[in-house]
Amino acid sequence: MFDHWGRELDPDSLQRAMGAIDLDAAEGGCPACGARFPTTAKRCPECGLRFG
Ligand SMILES: [Zn+2]
Repeated sequence: MFDHWGRELDPDSLQRAMGAIDLDAAEGGCPACGARFPTTAKRCPECGLRFG
């Protein structure tokens, strides 16, 4: 039932949903490697995962 949950969202909403995981500050966590870095970063400094 929730299979297409991510596909129904536009990229912006999906990005916000991912960012909502960490509400502490302007710092996010990489869903792939768990590294923490400012949400202004366009990609993870650890594994290079892109967020844009
Ligand atoms: Zn990463």
